[in-house]
Amino acid sequence: QAKAAGRNTIRFFDLHMQTVINARVALEADLRRSLQTHGFALHYQRQTDSSGYTMGAEALLRWQRPGSQPVSPSVFIPLAEETGLIVQLGEWVLEAACRQLVAWASRPETAHLTMAINVSARQFRQPAFVDLVLRVIERTGADPRRIKLELTESLLVANVENTIDTMHALKEKGIGFALDDFGTGYSSLAYLKRLPLDQLKIDQSFVRDVLTDPNDAAIARTILGLGRTLGLDVIAEGVETADQRNFLAMHGCSAFQGYLFGRPVAAEQF
Ligand code: C2E
Ligand code: MG
Ligand code: MG
Ligand code: MG
Repeated sequence: QAKAAGRNTIRFFDLHMQTVINARVALEADLRRSLQTHGFALHYQRQTDSSGYTMGAEALLRWQRPGSQPVSPSVFIPLAEETGLIVQLGEWVLEAACRQLVAWASRPETAHLTMAINVSARQFRQPAFVDLVLRVIERTGADPRRIKLELTESLLVANVENTIDTMHALKEKGIGFALDDFGTGYSSLAYLKRLPLDQLKIDQSFVRDVLTDPNDAAIARTILGLGRTLGLDVIAEGVETADQRNFLAMHGCSAFQGYLFGRPVAAEQF
């Protein structure tokens, strides 16, 4: 009896696993296909100073999966990382964002804008990453001083020396760096000091309850203090209310991003 039940349990588990695996395989196949059929787009979200003036934008990837609802990048980016597709996808993002930057540069009212571009760990660790970025810049004519690459703390877990070398090589050309989702990973303060960073991004998980959760408020203030000490800009992401903005501004935050200022939108709308 027990044995039979056990066998059934296993069979059910196998079936469930098979469903999960099939779904992943289908998702991966669709990702691959969309790379060939121009199935991706970039949306742009404003980054403002404390007066609400737009200083730049973050490029955020959008995927209209054929025959489905739009799929969130937090679902397909990890899969693209695991399968290595991120290398091709990341190159497409870089190129599309640079082309948009060039379009902005050609009009006086948008010529000052900077472009923040997300780079995943696997993409950044490609031996040819520096060459790739420089090639895209050359091909598109984008001004490297207006490009900011957003990295995450996962890059600091291993191979810090390589990370620093790669950053320096790009920094030499004028490219800036922001540390995304700051506070959620495993940055050691010792490494933080050695990285040629320009900006820390306070993760939205701390901004969300900054007015009601004393721990989140303390973390946000600590990051702002750290920015001052290390001479880095600090931008808060996920700012949705004026009260959150005011609290952060009161503690020295000078750059903001979030629905309060604008949602990610297509270039024409931006
Ligand atoms: P992220 O880089 O931290 O981007 C911020 C995310 O917060 C975006 O989600 C944005 O739409 C969302 N957001 C902005 N303001 C608010 C707000 O006020 N409230 C709330 N609740 N959310 C807000 P999105 O576009 O879904 O992207 C999720 C993540 O996917 C990004 O987090 C980034 O890690 C990754 N990602 C997006 N585009 C790319 C890309 O081109 N390359 C790579 N490697 N990763 C990307
Ligand atoms: Mg980002
Ligand atoms: Mg973030
Ligand atoms: Mg995030």
